[in-house]
Amino acid sequence: MNIQNIAIIGGGPAGFMVAVVAAENSSGKIHIDIFEKNITLKTILYTGNGRCNLSNEIYDYKELASNYPRGEKFLYSAFSRFGVKETLDWFYRHGVETYVQEDNRIFPTTDKASTIRDMFIQRAENISINILSHTSTKKIIKKDDKFVVQMENFTKEYDKVIIATGGSSRDLQNSGYELAKSFGHRITELKPSLTALRTKENFVQKLAGVSVKNAEISSYFLKVDCHVGAEAHPRNDGRLITKFKGDFVFTHKGVSGPVIFKTSAYCAYLNYSKNNPLLLKINFLPDLNRETLEKELLEEFNSNPHKSLDNILKKYLPKSLIDALLEEAKLDTDKKASQITKEDRKKILKILTETELTVISHEPEGEIVTAGGVCLKEINPKTMESKLVSGLYFCGEVMDIDGLTGGFNLQACWSTGFIAGINIFKEIL
Ligand SMILES: Cc1cc2nc3c(=O)[nH]c(=O)nc-3n(C[C@H](O)[C@H](O)[C@H](O)COP(=O)(O)OP(=O)(O)OC[C@H]3O[C@@H](n4cnc5c(N)ncnc54)[C@H](O)[C@@H]3O)c2cc1C
Repeated sequence: MNIQNIAIIGGGPAGFMVAVVAAENSSGKIHIDIFEKNITLKTILYTGNGRCNLSNEIYDYKELASNYPRGEKFLYSAFSRFGVKETLDWFYRHGVETYVQEDNRIFPTTDKASTIRDMFIQRAENISINILSHTSTKKIIKKDDKFVVQMENFTKEYDKVIIATGGSSRDLQNSGYELAKSFGHRITELKPSLTALRTKENFVQKLAGVSVKNAEISSYFLKVDCHVGAEAHPRNDGRLITKFKGDFVFTHKGVSGPVIFKTSAYCAYLNYSKNNPLLLKINFLPDLNRETLEKELLEEFNSNPHKSLDNILKKYLPKSLIDALLEEAKLDTDKKASQITKEDRKKILKILTETELTVISHEPEGEIVTAGGVCLKEINPKTMESKLVSGLYFCGEVMDIDGLTGGFNLQACWSTGFIAGINIFKEIL
């Protein structure tokens, strides 16, 4: 029997998914080596705060794909073939039971990311996948119809190579991007995504750890043109860029949490900085119509003339937050309701519905994923094979695909990994 040699560069979730799917379907006709420069499946242990948010309960493939600021249309094919249902079935068949949290996020029932790692490692060992940890791939050369893969201390020939090296916008030496570039692939601009945001305003320091539920955060670019994703979208000064509802938390230097991550993902390509900041407007009470709120406040003040301002407003927001915001707006927290002027009421309304923060950077080195990667125009979405070099495949975050928080980034690894794995063995049979 003619055995085909397959090299998988990168032992993360995408690499392991390809390896297991290909090996399970090839009836022993392939030999797989996984090369991992560090420890295999290390990152997965940190996912979902150690619980591994492996997917999100969205069964419609188009709706699922709408959670990817980059890669949406490319993923249609993979998701329609191997979407959330197929993924959960696959994990179930591999001994991993899952449950859906209230917010649609999906976790293993053990609530332990190690369950996912252990399953992959055990399965890989059972089906004779060769795992080489601490083995970095330096170079890949195509020689006739074979790939020569070079490691630090040895080289080996392969029939097919899968690049599943994940994302990074900083450490590019020996990265999958460099390997892909050596085959003529274009790498789109790399940017951190799903990050906390740093603000100019120092008062956030006092609020570090204070969390806010269901706020509406709008972002505005204050200056010149910019672009979202690979396509250029010039915007005028002061125009609205994003508007999302969700939870967030104040940090020592700014803001973080789900709605901030989402904002950061859609603003990943806006080169905001101290001199070119982003403006965030926070509506703490988005479900209350402005006029209704104005009326309600007036009634509160009139019927509680002796109550202090912060006491009245704590009905709406945590007291520490109210105190910091009133101080910032130069309003006396102890001021009695009867003393509140029309001008004060305007300020209070602005605090509750339009608090402004000036974003000067994302949290350095704090990203969850990388936006940008191997250009999708050069990859076949039905097979994950390179359109430039036959026998070369890509999957996972190394491609120009990134999702929002909620299990979407791992789902992209499972789906693209499955498609690559299936197609590798299909071509061999
Ligand atoms: C803290 C944190 C929490 C997260 N939580 C979630 C979550 O709950 N849900 C979710 O969906 N997503 C989450 N993500 C994102 C998710 O982990 C990634 O999108 C996913 O790991 C990408 O998988 P991958 O296999 O493409 O790449 P990676 O996981 O990055 O794996 C690639 C591997 O390739 C190796 N490698 C790179 N270059 C080489 C080379 N030249 N030679 C050999 N090996 C190489 C790397 O060492 C790495 O181990 C989280 C990310 C972080 C950082």
